[in-house]
Amino acid sequence: ASVLRTKIDEPNVDNLVKAGSDEAGTAKATFLCLVRNEDLDGIIKSIQTLQETFNNEFNYPYTFLNDDEFTEEFKKGILNALPAKASVRFGKIEDSDWEMPAWIDIGDYQKKMEALDEQGVGHAKQLSYHNMCRYYSKNFHHHPMLRDYKFAWRVEPGVSFYCQIDYDVFKFMEMNNKVYGFTLNLYDNPLTVETLWPTVMEFVREHPDYLHENGAFEWLKENGQKPDNYNGANGYSTCHFWTNFEITNLDFLRSQLYQDYVDFLDQRGGFYYERWGDAPVRSIALALFADKDSIHWFRDIGYSHMPYTNCPKRDEEKYRAQCVPGKFVPWGNLEAENCQATWIKYVMSEDQMDLY
Ligand code: GDP
Ligand code: MN
Repeated sequence: ASVLRTKIDEPNVDNLVKAGSDEAGTAKATFLCLVRNEDLDGIIKSIQTLQETFNNEFNYPYTFLNDDEFTEEFKKGILNALPAKASVRFGKIEDSDWEMPAWIDIGDYQKKMEALDEQGVGHAKQLSYHNMCRYYSKNFHHHPMLRDYKFAWRVEPGVSFYCQIDYDVFKFMEMNNKVYGFTLNLYDNPLTVETLWPTVMEFVREHPDYLHENGAFEWLKENGQKPDNYNGANGYSTCHFWTNFEITNLDFLRSQLYQDYVDFLDQRGGFYYERWGDAPVRSIALALFADKDSIHWFRDIGYSHMPYTNCPKRDEEKYRAQCVPGKFVPWGNLEAENCQATWIKYVMSEDQMDLY
């Protein structure tokens, strides 16, 4: 945690596109909000702080997706909350992309989720949550409304952005060949991903050529780094990018490699027979199949999704930080769920470390 309390003035590159310059706002990129009609108030709260800290200057478009039709009330509410110049689209997800696939045995699913529920696993019996995790893992990047975009910044209801961002985050991704951007790293509940790692290893044995020579493998493995009560899952540390904030390079997700990977997992049924989250599924793919130098930790972006916060210490006058620097959780003893230290230990290079 001490590293987080030192001042963050990043990214440390000399090609940042600043607000107001000709190139600002020119990346092929969108905010992506997968929400229900009843999430209206929550998503308005999120996009208001996003507009204030970033997008009033860059004017990137919003794409809203739903497995149901958006109501007129929802659409009006969003348009009223955004500046008149904002570009906004509302889309529906095909049932065939969203719903439980035919090869899942419903009785088996119900029995297994009954058991997970009894062990206290959240959302185990909520079918829509399983569908959502599968959709974010396997299908969102193929939605026709995203076809012309190269980057998507996921935004969820009820989150906050705290610090002014004075450069074009999407152009940073594009100009520096980034495949993924994250803010927070957490351990997962091993009960949700018991067979995920062994299943991925089967896939890797079929496709050894897919492994990236500069991958972040060590970060994924159980290295004995976890505190008490945080057990790994059959070789996987369970550390993952917390995907409620993620900036994805859609070309990576639309690649044959990623699609083969997620199809393989899907066929095994773990989105239903277990409660595989899109976060561990995505994180494992990135750490195995992408160049670790193309995965960027946005330590400078102040962000919170209950109950965790990425609150960087910044030049306050310039960036107006409104959270407590270095504080990962506002209360309680959840600090042990934080695995940012393992990303630093196993993935960051020495010259990156010097910066911190
Ligand atoms: P949590 O953060 O893991 O508790 O999950 P959330 O409830 O925040 O869901 C993750 C994202 O998926 C949020 O953007 C939700 O609005 C969205 N989401 C979850 N379930 C559904 C659903 O059934 N339909 C739609 N349209 N969106 C959903
Ligand atoms: Mn959420």
